[in-house]
Amino acid sequence: MKIYISVDMEGITSLVHFDEALTRNTDFQYFRKFMTEEANAAIEGALAAGATEIIVRDAHNTARNLLPDMLHPEAKLLREWSRSPYQMMEGIDDSFDAVLCVGYHAKASTPNGTLKHTMTGEILNVSVNGISLPELGWNGLIAGYHNVPVIFVAGDQAICDQANQLFQKIETVAVKQGIGQATLSVHPKKAQSMIRNAVERACKSFDQYTPLIYDAPYTIEISFKNELNAFRASWYPGAKRADELSVTLTCNDFFDCMRFFIFVT
Ligand SMILES: [Zn+2]
Repeated sequence: MKIYISVDMEGITSLVHFDEALTRNTDFQYFRKFMTEEANAAIEGALAAGATEIIVRDAHNTARNLLPDMLHPEAKLLREWSRSPYQMMEGIDDSFDAVLCVGYHAKASTPNGTLKHTMTGEILNVSVNGISLPELGWNGLIAGYHNVPVIFVAGDQAICDQANQLFQKIETVAVKQGIGQATLSVHPKKAQSMIRNAVERACKSFDQYTPLIYDAPYTIEISFKNELNAFRASWYPGAKRADELSVTLTCNDFFDCMRFFIFVT
């Protein structure tokens, strides 16, 4: 069983402010340990279920957050941005059996979503075939492009709710609940044991989960906070201006949506 783990940071337990999630801040050094330990909990759960190969993708901000020597020795770690359209899913291919997402957060503008945003912070919304997506959904479609199901997500309650709406079947662990800008969290040790147990359960039945694949043709719509970003994106070959803040592209191969996304955001 070959497992791919994408690890973001905003959805790690207790973390509540970007001061705690951005490299040059003092508090970041404290919270990156929890990020690494939650990744380890997922690795331990996957190994307990029989995983034989595990790749961990550091998928937050600089993509240089996880502490390599603290990471479980059975996993390989993928760091830094490649600059390819795969972004938070770099390294995924058809050879994997399942994807696990740890430390994930809700899409931009989600009520009670801790540190909610969609990819760059310049984006209001991303939708594919009319379905509005958090990063988890976009990354789920990238995994689906390779026929690999997302079987698990850990993060705040808001992303767990969005996961259950997007995926037919997915195992979720909510490590915290947003209350406006505040966050009520479980203890880091408790979060780790919840993640370990749920990942083991999900990995044991990975073949019961279905990859996230929408019907072609695909229409991707990206809405920006700044009108000038929509103006710029509208020059991409085949792109159409949908309104002041939005552009769309229709394509038959989902990879063309991925390519559009990286060039215009
Ligand atoms: Zn992040």
